[in-house]
Amino acid sequence: MGEDVRELLRVEPGRVELASIDPGSTPGSGRVGTKGGGKAWARGQLAELGAELARAQEMLYATAKTAAADSVAARRRVLLVLQGMDCAGKGGTVRNVAGAMNPVGVRVVGFGRPTEQERGHHFLWRIKRALPPPGRVGVFDRSHYEDVLVARVRSLVPETTWRGRYEEINRWESELVTGGLVLVKVMLHISYEEQAERLAARLDDPTKHWKYNPGDLDERPLWSDYQAAYAEALSRCSTDAAPWYVVPADRKWYRNWAVAQLLLAALRELDLAYPPADFDVAAERERLAAHVAGQTIG
Ligand code: AMP
Ligand code: MG
Repeated sequence: MGEDVRELLRVEPGRVELASIDPGSTPGSGRVGTKGGGKAWARGQLAELGAELARAQEMLYATAKTAAADSVAARRRVLLVLQGMDCAGKGGTVRNVAGAMNPVGVRVVGFGRPTEQERGHHFLWRIKRALPPPGRVGVFDRSHYEDVLVARVRSLVPETTWRGRYEEINRWESELVTGGLVLVKVMLHISYEEQAERLAARLDDPTKHWKYNPGDLDERPLWSDYQAAYAEALSRCSTDAAPWYVVPADRKWYRNWAVAQLLLAALRELDLAYPPADFDVAAERERLAAHVAGQTIG
């Protein structure tokens, strides 16, 4: 099923029509119906997918730890890039999908407005520093793509600058992939209406006020500009080495399920396995038995 989902959600290089992708749709799940209709089903699915994700991630970690230092296996790492408008569910995806894995093997990094120091560097500087080490699964909550999204919409840099970044990003990502990084890029696609509902929910719930930023409302009139910026970034930067996927995200259960499927499909392709022992297991068992038999402490 994971294969199907990738085919269904993948952005063809040079082409994506966001307006024609229904944020409320649930491609590949075989579930339709009212909002929340797939919830119970997805909960069960996510438990299974999560267990497989955890296992795959552990094998990735174990392999990187034990592989010969100069081998590809020792350099293998995975990076899930999450992009989307405010309230698209990046945080919820981190909690539900990345949260299924052992924290020791996962690195989650969020990117906000660049600091003074970061602004003094090339836009990829802070991104490179945040890449997951070998054997880990990294998750980016926003990413270098902000530098062709908000940077464009808010005219933070001249057009020639952000336009030049598409190629720069493609070249850099392709190098990363050649070097053993598996890149899964996901845009969480919500509707204008769903964003309004989620913003209202944040205002209604005091435990969510910390997530609400009055400045976010100023981005809402720019919705179409953002959609155009997303469409171009996704089509220009969906490459064979590092494709983009658009996940309809109005239904949280579908979003979690789809992102888990995409991540899992990438991990499955690595043909991961638990590394064999580099010691004599039978001999160690005997030594342990001898210890237990003559047990004295100290
Ligand atoms: P949040 O994800 O809600 O914590 O918000 C992070 C904010 O940082 C968003 O408004 C982003 O647009 C903004 N941001 C992230 N990266 C950049 C960037 N490279 N340049 C300008 N703003 C950025
Ligand atoms: Mg926000």
